[in-house]
Amino acid sequence: MAQKKGNGVIGSGSRQSDCIFCKIAEGSLPAYKVYEDSDVLAFLDIFPIHSGHVLVVPRRHCVDIFDIPENELQAVIVAAKKLAPAVMKAMNADGINIGMNNRQAAGQVVMHAHLHVIPRFRDDGLKTWPQRPYNNDAEKQHAMERIKAAL
Ligand code: 5GP
Ligand code: ZN
Repeated sequence: MAQKKGNGVIGSGSRQSDCIFCKIAEGSLPAYKVYEDSDVLAFLDIFPIHSGHVLVVPRRHCVDIFDIPENELQAVIVAAKKLAPAVMKAMNADGINIGMNNRQAAGQVVMHAHLHVIPRFRDDGLKTWPQRPYNNDAEKQHAMERIKAAL
């Protein structure tokens, strides 16, 4: 059942009339589909990082990693595992990034959970995020303890 979440985002459940990926899943919006099964659909991203950039989505509306049931996430990641070598071969890629943006602060724009399968090339010049060392062991200890306590 569809439900409003505290943040105003529609949670997991049946198709959402204002969701573009639900529209693609039901066939009312066109997409270049590359794979489908009973739980999952995969199609070309309309603004690719590189040609062959694929989005893998659950058919049922789910918002993000927090919202998606484990069995549907499993179906999505298994489909990504199938697609990764296919994209690699088809696009003559040298590597693949698998990514998922969750919530606006992390760059999520379409609020229907999806994995990006992105072909990468040795000299494509794309950089990942900047990294930095921990300031000290206390910062590591703090992060480790907070995460373990939250599980
Ligand atoms: P996000 O930032 O939410 O992780 O990624 C959403 C992705 O969906 C973006 O890369 C964007 O290019 C893609 N996208 C947005 N609208 C459409 C659409 O109507 N059709 C397709 N195929 N991709 C879309
Ligand atoms: Zn949706």
